[in-house]
Amino acid sequence: MVKETGFYDILCVKPSATADELKKAYRKLALKYHPDKNPDEGEKFKQISQAYEVLSNPEKRRIYDEGGEQALKEGGTGGSSSAMDIFDMFFGGPFGGGGGGGRSRDRRGKNVIHQLSVSLEELYKGAVRKLVLQKNVICDKCEGRGGKKGAVEVCNNCHGKGIEVHIQQLRPGMVQQIQSVCRECQGQGERIPAKDRCKNCGGRKVTRDRKVLEVHVDKGRCDGEKIVFSREGDQEPGLEPGDIIIVLDEKEHPTYKRSGNDLILRMELELVEALCGFKKTIKTLDDRELVISTIPGEVIKHGDIKYVENEGMPQYKNPFEKGRLLIQFFVTFPTKIPIDKIPGLESCLPPAQEALIPDLAEEVILQDLDPKAEARSQRERAHGPAYEEDEDGFGMGSGPGRVQCATQ
Ligand SMILES: [Zn+2]
Ligand SMILES: [Zn+2]
Repeated sequence: MVKETGFYDILCVKPSATADELKKAYRKLALKYHPDKNPDEGEKFKQISQAYEVLSNPEKRRIYDEGGEQALKEGGTGGSSSAMDIFDMFFGGPFGGGGGGGRSRDRRGKNVIHQLSVSLEELYKGAVRKLVLQKNVICDKCEGRGGKKGAVEVCNNCHGKGIEVHIQQLRPGMVQQIQSVCRECQGQGERIPAKDRCKNCGGRKVTRDRKVLEVHVDKGRCDGEKIVFSREGDQEPGLEPGDIIIVLDEKEHPTYKRSGNDLILRMELELVEALCGFKKTIKTLDDRELVISTIPGEVIKHGDIKYVENEGMPQYKNPFEKGRLLIQFFVTFPTKIPIDKIPGLESCLPPAQEALIPDLAEEVILQDLDPKAEARSQRERAHGPAYEEDEDGFGMGSGPGRVQCATQ
């Protein structure tokens, strides 16, 4: 039982979430709320990053689970890295350098990340997806100068430094110096007289261009993998363009689940099929039909798993090698059996063991137990009746009384 669930709620996961579930939740949300995509959600982005920083570290997570946020603060192990650093660490950055904040580790533009939602079929068969995006390119009319050759002047407001300094008097004898980006030249340190400005880019040196990227999603690619388009980010004079990075997001499939290169299929069986055998077809992700059947006399038990070799997901870069297709059987039992059919049924099943009933044994009544009601009352005992949760026990579900987390 954890003390608080705040960090878990921010990431839209249950307190029992595995490291993998946390990772996935963080990835989705961090991409969604990244300041590049959602400039107004900076606070949310910070919260997501802070929650993930704590929960992804087993020691910090233990402290948080036991004592909540307060315990982290007291232990001095609260959020220490910046949201952007956590993001970079997670995605193997650097993302989001350059602009504004002035991270000048190198003269390189920002990396741009896009999440690309792909179906399991696309990952199975391979696909080419076209991605249309807008980006800045160096103006080809003025070759990035912004105006006529020799027309560039040093900005006389900031004398080329790109920053303005204001002196503000707080009270007599005490002044404060405030630095800000020069308003005359927007921090460029230079300006071009209006008459000499390039007509094509209006002196901005770059133009906005539509660019179509062909993203090759190879067979066997996995959720969360990155496809990098080197130096395809925004262009800016004197700056090496950053990368465009596509992060694959595998959509959930209605019938198949993926586990590495294995595919898992859930198959419902009637009791008669489980006992007397069956022949069934399975539609593969590339639309072929596979026929599976039991050996005569074989019995399939509820929960049994069988597999078909080489019908799983193709291996990345080695697509002729495939994983397994695992089939898990779920047997539907009839609710009633006609009484006159029981002797016939008994005759073909292994005999039951006869119980020895002592004379003094008491006869009692068997009642049905409702597992849902049971779970509910257990929760109420633990949290009080006000605590509501999805009945199916899935945090991300659609149950009442819970903040909805939109995922793509
Ligand atoms: Zn131009
Ligand atoms: Zn200036």
